[in-house]
Amino acid sequence: MIRRHSTAQPSAEITWHALPVYDVLEQTRSSANGLQEGEAQRRLALHGLNQLAPAKRRGPLRRLLVQFHNVLLYVMLAASAITAMLGHWVDTGVLLAAVVLNAIIGFIQEGKAESALDAIHTMLAPRATVVRNGRRYEIDASSLAPGDLVALGSGDRVPADLRLIAAKDFHVEEAALTGESLPVEKGTEPVAADAPLGDRNCMAFMGTVALTGQASGIVIATGADTEIGRINQLLAGIQSVTTPLMRHINRFSYWLALVILAIAVVIFLFGTLVRGESAVAMFTMVVALVASAIPEGLPAIMTVTLALGVQRMARQKAIVRRLPAVETLGSVTVICTDKTGTLTRNEMTVQRVICAGQAFDVSGVGYGSAGEFSSGGRIVDAASHPVLARAIQAGVLCNDASLRQEGKHWLPGGDPTEVALLTLGHKAGLAPEPENAAMPRLDSIPFESANRYMATLHRDAQGQPWILLKGAPEQILDLCDWQLTDAGQAPLQVDYWRRMATDTAARGLRVLALASKSAAPRHACLDAEDIQAGFTLLALVGIVDLPREEAVRSVHACHQAGIRVKMITGDHADTARAIGAQLDIGVGKPAITGAEIAIMDDAALSRVVCDIDVFARASPEHKLRLVRALQADGQVVAMTGDGVNDAPALKRADVGISMGLKGTEAAKQASDMVLADDNFATIAIAVREGRAVYDNIKKFILFMLPTNGGEALIVIAALFSGLALPLTPAQVLWINMVTAGTLGVALAFEPPERGIMKRQPRPAQAPLLSAFFVWRIVFVSVLMMAGGLGLFLWEVGNGASPASARTIVVNAVVVSEMFYLLCSRYITASVLNREGLTGNPYVLWAIAGCAALQLIYTHAPFMQAIFGSSDLTPAEWLKVLGAGLAVFLCSELEKLLLRLQRHRRGAIHSGARP
Ligand code: ADP
Ligand code: MG
Repeated sequence: MIRRHSTAQPSAEITWHALPVYDVLEQTRSSANGLQEGEAQRRLALHGLNQLAPAKRRGPLRRLLVQFHNVLLYVMLAASAITAMLGHWVDTGVLLAAVVLNAIIGFIQEGKAESALDAIHTMLAPRATVVRNGRRYEIDASSLAPGDLVALGSGDRVPADLRLIAAKDFHVEEAALTGESLPVEKGTEPVAADAPLGDRNCMAFMGTVALTGQASGIVIATGADTEIGRINQLLAGIQSVTTPLMRHINRFSYWLALVILAIAVVIFLFGTLVRGESAVAMFTMVVALVASAIPEGLPAIMTVTLALGVQRMARQKAIVRRLPAVETLGSVTVICTDKTGTLTRNEMTVQRVICAGQAFDVSGVGYGSAGEFSSGGRIVDAASHPVLARAIQAGVLCNDASLRQEGKHWLPGGDPTEVALLTLGHKAGLAPEPENAAMPRLDSIPFESANRYMATLHRDAQGQPWILLKGAPEQILDLCDWQLTDAGQAPLQVDYWRRMATDTAARGLRVLALASKSAAPRHACLDAEDIQAGFTLLALVGIVDLPREEAVRSVHACHQAGIRVKMITGDHADTARAIGAQLDIGVGKPAITGAEIAIMDDAALSRVVCDIDVFARASPEHKLRLVRALQADGQVVAMTGDGVNDAPALKRADVGISMGLKGTEAAKQASDMVLADDNFATIAIAVREGRAVYDNIKKFILFMLPTNGGEALIVIAALFSGLALPLTPAQVLWINMVTAGTLGVALAFEPPERGIMKRQPRPAQAPLLSAFFVWRIVFVSVLMMAGGLGLFLWEVGNGASPASARTIVVNAVVVSEMFYLLCSRYITASVLNREGLTGNPYVLWAIAGCAALQLIYTHAPFMQAIFGSSDLTPAEWLKVLGAGLAVFLCSELEKLLLRLQRHRRGAIHSGARP
């Protein structure tokens, strides 16, 4: 039963799917022209923004408590309880301080990472096309109000719950709501009031995706009142927060922790049984060692490094939707990119019109109406050439774009290819009339990349129906039997037109053919059956679209970085090759067309795919096959796309990249990254940042593991050699506390290294902990131990008190770590230059902060009371600095030798080549 509401306000209790369309309009007080703007605003204020409540977050307290949930911290808490029972208050205090500090740092870092990802979430806010006061606007989907009239096209995400009032071949995928991934056809007929969600065919629900056709509908529920809002399921935004590398590192730290615990047990047994130390003293020592050897900061730093990378990318217009993409970007070997709008500017201008046996040149750039027609070098009046005028008029009528003049500026809207035809109309004095008054449009088939044509149905003043057609010449020529000449209709000279089309394309122009037919559609509305034969060709149009300047530079940068750039376009092969040549893509090589790909089997395709760089007249399904073929060859593929049909290829690619401006919601949802400016150059920037993030994680590991290792080795060496302990447990914990929390974090802020785009891509399968890594970790650990222990032995040998000797060791270890932090900025390059020493201010701040803490540790009376430290003389400070400097120089020397070795090996390799 239908409950009628007296308020005439949309209400969740009305069974909208059972109401006929006119009732829906009446109940919502809406119309085929949509709401009035003021009314929409009023309703928006009443019903609130059309947004889903964000997923429930852990509160700050929960988040803080979770930080304590860590085996290491349990061990430390247990240890502090035991030391407290034994009355070792200092150890208890330091242990507790370390635990709390750890948790707080983890808490802050995690919060930072979360807010970085949140900020990006809002950048991906969906848009919607709404009709208000009878005009179409694109607005943020969140400002839709109940009663709004929304227009949907293929690839759109349904922005609210809609009762459809018009639908044409409209198919929707409702997996987000019903789990059913097969497309459902939608119409406008009401259904039974008790129909289940999946059968309400006159409704389009928020969060589902339009696959084909068009529809319009009235918003009947927004935000939390929608079906999806009621089940309170957050729509796919940024998904997992772990990446393969993070999982790898987590597994690694787990095993490392086990090894460290095993070593600790051995040390404990050795100390108590062999060396006869007291069990209590050994226990605290071992706990301190474990605490400092385990890289507990690693997972947090990885999240922060990734989040910072994501933030940096977003600032440069590359919006990452899935975190693993950041890592994968760094190993991309092939970028397959769209041409139009990504490599080119998408500011299209018609330069050439071929009709009635003549080629007309059109002057003037941009969207303005200034420009002249000339033929054979002589300026002509377009209006005095009837065929030319007819063709231009067809281009203006068979058109969904808009071009408005505001002051001196022309504001284009819609597909740039079609805007170019409107500009052409203005230049010929055949500007479109409002609502095409003389030839009102009755129906249309919009352009889709798969069909490569657009058709519209009109009625002229005499009541005669006309079908106008525009599209790729290959498509259109097949449908034409006639051509229009100055003398009237004549049989089509196919060869002539083919020649003219290739000739125009070879100049790098995008070619469109325009045709018309005077006929009524077979059925009530226009469909593919009406576009089969009997058309009259009017003209060919050649459109320039210049390459973006920054794209030329970025393609060059990619080539230097060992990345192949492949262009995939729906345009003519000759157009594609000409534009490719300007961008240094596929120079001197043939282009392959979609038709050729279609007849190749997978084996044949993978043979040519690596060598060919330009793919023309390609459709979305060809993209999918190309990705597969490239991946089968072991390439890591980034692929761009914008249409709903590109989604499978975007999902399949290692990095799927969608267009923020012209891309459909369906493509965005399938992608790993969105280009906010649709610009190829942004992809190159993202690759660079991706490489930098991976580098920074490596750098952090190369910093963290040896510094932890060095501390542990000092104690182990002292124990096994029967020396007095060079560090007390409290001191070991202190070192861990000051260095883990301050120093390493600075590396997350490292900018990309200068030569980062001159390297080859990192092999996708390369293990993070290579033999070189292990060597570096062992080498630096030993170096750190040698400095600290050496100074200790020297001091003790000179008769220094244990207290001052230990103070020197603590300072030596911390200062060595400060120096080593500088070295760690570059893995192999030298830091002995201005950029290397001062390029990252965070590193300098971290070092300064750490130095201040050490001064307090050494000279403040209360610290001396707690840790047993004692004042150092300037000479002793010099020794400490000397130890740090020695570590620094030795590490730099190791890098130098490494570089020399690589250089020599590289020289041999290149010498061996013919
Ligand atoms: P791409 O975006 O890769 O350059 P498209 O699939 O957009 O390629 O276009 C392929 C071809 O379809 C173009 O070369 C042109 O001939 C034709 N075409 C493009 N846009 C339109 C349109 N709006 N209407 C009709 N035909 C079009
Ligand atoms: Mg296009």
